[in-house]
Amino acid sequence: MNILHVASECYPLIKTGGLADVVGALPWAQAQAGHDVRLVLPYYPSVAEQLPDAPIIRELSTFAGGVALRSVDYHGVRLYLIDAHHLFARKGNPYHDANYHDYADNVYRFALLGWFGAALAAGMDEWWGCADVLHAHDWQAGLACAYLAHWQSPVKRIFTIHNLAYQGLFDAAHVPELALPWRMFDVHGLEFNGQLSMLKAGLYYADEITTVSPSYAQEITHIEGGCGLHGLLAERAGQHRLHGILNGIDPGIWSPEHDPAITHHYNARQLVANKRANKLELQRFFGLEEDKNALLMILVSRLTEQKGIDLLLAALPTMLDMGNTQFAILGSGEPALSEAFEGAAAAHPGRIGVYIGYDEALSHRMMAGGDLIAVPSRFEPCGLTQLYGMAYGTLPLVRRIGGLGDSVLDGRTGFVFDQATSSDLVDAYQRAVDIWLQPRKWQTMQRRAMGEDFGWHKAAQQYLALYEK
Ligand code: ADP
Repeated sequence: MNILHVASECYPLIKTGGLADVVGALPWAQAQAGHDVRLVLPYYPSVAEQLPDAPIIRELSTFAGGVALRSVDYHGVRLYLIDAHHLFARKGNPYHDANYHDYADNVYRFALLGWFGAALAAGMDEWWGCADVLHAHDWQAGLACAYLAHWQSPVKRIFTIHNLAYQGLFDAAHVPELALPWRMFDVHGLEFNGQLSMLKAGLYYADEITTVSPSYAQEITHIEGGCGLHGLLAERAGQHRLHGILNGIDPGIWSPEHDPAITHHYNARQLVANKRANKLELQRFFGLEEDKNALLMILVSRLTEQKGIDLLLAALPTMLDMGNTQFAILGSGEPALSEAFEGAAAAHPGRIGVYIGYDEALSHRMMAGGDLIAVPSRFEPCGLTQLYGMAYGTLPLVRRIGGLGDSVLDGRTGFVFDQATSSDLVDAYQRAVDIWLQPRKWQTMQRRAMGEDFGWHKAAQQYLALYEK
């Protein structure tokens, strides 16, 4: 099958979150299953640095200016890279500037991504022909589905929601500038509360919608979780066109046995000594007391309200009083939350360590050296860090929501709490402490978590079954 993915991130070329991990794994899993899989991505500086010689196969003028299209094989998946210097040659985060202000021209930047996705799916690369399936990811790629619908292309369209809260909303006045007709700016189309919604474009014009866990697929059909789109989503669910497929993780990147970022490798059979050695290194790095008996909880997260960071902050003092507890925090995002963590670290030297920033290698070392990983999200489409934690024998402490509830078994592979309150979080933490004090039981849970199979093959099969449909 000819499969074309369209996305704005792909690990290791460009990453801000879980989307990149998924797009960096799923196409390769499908290629390994024998399909011709390709991916359209903007040629950001970080991509250009890693693929400086990707040949230009086409130069053309578009509604968003002149563009060179590059194409290169990348470990078995062909990439199409949109080289538009005036739109994508900006260092750092792909969506906003250093002050967290969205780029004012995002509407053109991501309309162009969608347009190229559609054009390539419809046969722009005559050496390839048409895609059988176009698979668009999140709002940045949503317009690909709209362009194909506008062109009445027979290419089938799949849209995956990685996070419904980010919707790609823009002034309606842009619609005709994007080579789309006004008639598509309709409640049955691109319109959402008077604005152009790239997310809704993806949802509305997709043949099939998927999201990244079965529970989230249900939650978004209700008013509380639907971000205003629950009506459309409930309708699609009723038509059996909304599917929840749990993300996998890439064992080539996330394995404590082979991870190049960690010093002391281990597996489920030989776990205790080397995990402890990683923990001592981590304690040293974060300025924590080098104490093997301390229960070291880690957090690796965007610092946003979604992630329930405020619940954790509120629970910290109680948790510190509950035993020999330490915290190591790696995150970036809202300044108020970073400052709160830095304040907590200053108030509790040796017990709380904070690194504000984005550091991929450190995130691996934390998975290897932690005992518990907190994921107290208010909502969570899938969540990946709890899966990484389990693979590294770092037991997740999570809220029962979205993919967290679908992947962590309370008392067996982690600790799960129900309400988004710090007291529920603290109760779950108390259960974790009780088990921590019984090392044999703790190790049994670690081994069970490490034995869970979250490989991509299951999800890849489910996507292929959907494409076949
Ligand atoms: P989301 O996509 O909502 O941010 P996920 O749990 O799906 O959440 O994916 C987050 C990904 O980003 C994981 O790979 C996680 O390790 C990584 N990550 C998040 N924050 C950081 C950080 N500050 N430094 C390094 N990696 C991070």
